Amino acid sequence: MRPETIAIHGGYEIEPTTKAVAVPIYQTVAYAFDSADHGAALFNLEVEGYRYSRISNPTTAVLERRVAALEGGIEALCVSTGQAAINYAVLNVTELGTNIISVPQLYGTTHTLFAHIFRGQGVEVRFARSDRPGDVTELIDDKTRAVYCESVGNPAGNICDIEALAHVSHDYGIPLIVDNTVATPILLRPIDYGADVVVHSLTKFMGGHGTTMGGAIVDSGRFPWKRYANRFPMFNQPDLSYHGLVYVDHFKDAAYIGRCRCVYQRTTGAVLPPLSAFLLLQGIETAPLRVERHVVNGRRVAEFLRGHPRVEWVQYAGFPESPYHALAKKYFGGAACSLMTFGVKGGFEAGKKFYDALKLVLRLVNLGDAKSLACHPASTTHRQMTSEEKHKAGVSPEMIRLSVGIEHSDDIIADLDQALRATEEI
Ligand SMILES: *Cc1c(COP(=O)(O)O)cnc(C)c1O
Repeated sequence: MRPETIAIHGGYEIEPTTKAVAVPIYQTVAYAFDSADHGAALFNLEVEGYRYSRISNPTTAVLERRVAALEGGIEALCVSTGQAAINYAVLNVTELGTNIISVPQLYGTTHTLFAHIFRGQGVEVRFARSDRPGDVTELIDDKTRAVYCESVGNPAGNICDIEALAHVSHDYGIPLIVDNTVATPILLRPIDYGADVVVHSLTKFMGGHGTTMGGAIVDSGRFPWKRYANRFPMFNQPDLSYHGLVYVDHFKDAAYIGRCRCVYQRTTGAVLPPLSAFLLLQGIETAPLRVERHVVNGRRVAEFLRGHPRVEWVQYAGFPESPYHALAKKYFGGAACSLMTFGVKGGFEAGKKFYDALKLVLRLVNLGDAKSLACHPASTTHRQMTSEEKHKAGVSPEMIRLSVGIEHSDDIIADLDQALRATEEI
């Protein structure tokens, strides 16, 4: 099925007892066992079914199947936030003394997690000089357990060459983990280009209405964990915390996501509430339509900004002059996302004046909402970074990040225009 159809029907078969058409919200903590033997079989993962909602829930399971189908993966695990997804995705392949390589352009909180939290726990994250595959390769050694990137970096708007990064990773026998939040599977499916694991903040374009937080980890089912048994003992040796289960034997191709659920979701419990799963499913139904409009509006707004006398620069991969245009062509057919950055003429003060003059476009730290949103990364999402880290992450002091919504583009442009004109006295 095509994405438009999967988004509406994927993962749900009409529930047989009630014939409910909408996905039911299973607001329950536990599930009754038929007998002690049935309970034991569930605990031993010998029969399919539910035990306790920290491990799995039928409403969330629909969302998991739908997201996995949209991304072309074998299985998914949905968790409470995008950050929880990223944390679990990396923890699942690393141990004390190992490292991962990351491109430098990252979501601010992911950078904090990588640069400070993981490092404090004995997992080193090495940041490449740029998102170029060669700069990633030079940092890989025998302790490297994954390469990490955002398909479209937030807020930098850079586009990673997923195919090339997957080649590099696979040459060294390690998986590529891709955060596909900004692109969404509607525009790009990293697994089609060789990515092994995809993570999401469903909070953004997938949910799409700024109402609900959620995260997802999608397993491509293709990484050969068994072949690299020495590097990844966690999938290949009996897990004493789970009565000796060997994940590659029990879950076969889905060993990665099976372990993620059995180990991290079960013992640390960043659970997505079933009501949130329901709301995210509602959002996903219209994701293909919304993303299409986001893209059209994004182009119109980018062209308006480029032609405006008060705008110093616009970073938008849809323009031929963008350094990422070739990759935008390769991965998005020349289109670009509705996320863009620009600088107002007159530096920091003008940027601030512009930001304060916005009336329709909201001032906040979110993206991928139906509403148009603006953010000043240097003072908010990326404020904890040093100037050098900000520079590497593609964040300059005057930079405004715009997430163009699906209002009428004339109204968005009118608001941006009046706010830009408000900077003229400076
Ligand atoms: C927002 C975001 C996250 C974090 O997701 P939450 O749901 O807010 O935890 C991770 N990566 C990217 C690219 C994001 O935009």
